[in-house]
This record gives sequence, C-alpha cells and structure tokens, in this order.
Amino acid sequence: MAKDKQQVVVSIYPDWCKGCGICAAFCPGEVLELGPDGKARVVQGATCRNCGFCEHHCPDFAIVVKTKRRIANNREVDHAHEG
Ligand code: SF4
Ligand code: SF4
Repeated sequence: MAKDKQQVVVSIYPDWCKGCGICAAFCPGEVLELGPDGKARVVQGATCRNCGFCEHHCPDFAIVVKTKRRIANNREVDHAHEG
C-alpha cells in the first residue's frame, strides 16, 4: 500500500486579509502572492511545506493551513454515524 502522504490545503479568508504581504514575502514554498485585489492568494499550493508560518504570522488570522488527511478523517467520522 502506498505511503499515506499528507497534502496540505491553505485557505485564505479575503475579508480578513488586509494585504500586508507578510505571508507571501516569507513563505518558503512560494505558495502565496498578493493578487490584483490586494489580497493574498494561493498560486501553487502543491509546494506548501506545512511550516505554519503564514497561519502563525498573519496579523489578521486570515490564513488556515490544514492537511487533507485530517479533513478526510473528519469525513470518515461523519459517515460512521450514518450506519
Ligand atoms: S499575512 Fe494575512 S493579512 Fe497579510 S497579506 Fe497575508 S493573509 Fe493578508
Ligand atoms: S504553511 Fe508555510 S509553506 Fe505553506 S503556505 Fe504557509 S508559509 Fe507557505
């Protein structure tokens, strides 16, 4: 069986983002940039290293980093209640 590789999902809440650019400037995976609307956006999620820098340093708590495996586990818990 293939090794369970975690995929990282970076979510940005534009309403909370003030466009300071800290996340884009210091992201080691070059995942983020400021879009034309002045808000942060994900440009290449696949290179996210799950370091957590953006989530921990965003002054407005506008970024959340999660792993897909964690999301999948939550779904499995939901399905278990259906049976
Ligand atoms: S650090 Fe937060 S507020 Fe600043 S650009 Fe990134 S998401 Fe927006
Ligand atoms: S968790 Fe790290 S690598 Fe991933 S987007 Fe945030 S700063 Fe970049």
